[in-house]
Amino acid sequence: MDRLIAGAGALFPKIPTVHFYPETQECPKCGSMPHVQKTCTKTVVTMDIGAFCAKETVLFCRHDQTIFASEQSRSLVPERGTFGFDVIVEVGMALFVRCRNNQEAMKELAAKNVFVSVRGISYLGRKFIVYLALAHRQSQSRLRDLMARRGGYMLHVDGTCEGDSPNLFCGLDGISELVLDAS
Ligand SMILES: [Zn+2]
Repeated sequence: MDRLIAGAGALFPKIPTVHFYPETQECPKCGSMPHVQKTCTKTVVTMDIGAFCAKETVLFCRHDQTIFASEQSRSLVPERGTFGFDVIVEVGMALFVRCRNNQEAMKELAAKNVFVSVRGISYLGRKFIVYLALAHRQSQSRLRDLMARRGGYMLHVDGTCEGDSPNLFCGLDGISELVLDAS
């Protein structure tokens, strides 16, 4: 993944190091003090900071083997990922909302000091779609509650029909203009 970062660190002469430590002081299962299991270092890129070195301490409980990682780090960047969630959102918005191509999206990010290769942009674009689909699925009950509170919904259904290409159907609520499902 590191080779997808081209010219990272333009903002700082040397990329800064940020330490992440688990927020847990004691094991919630047995109340004992967790011990350090390992410290890992990886390069992370977010919109706010650009590229930085994330040094993360992982703790574990000797009694029940519970593992504690930093929640702050988890909320910034996907596990084993290099690019932060905010970079994934930025790429997704550029590609699918502002209809930029990979090259244009790459330039937009570079102007904000976030350097991703063209291949990286395409990869992050696919990642955005997967996370969006998951977030949508996880929000199903909240969407259902919202529709019920508003007294129902007006279902608009439309689909693509371009020659032999696969059809895409989309259903949205005409009042809130929320997309309810697509397949
Ligand atoms: Zn424990």
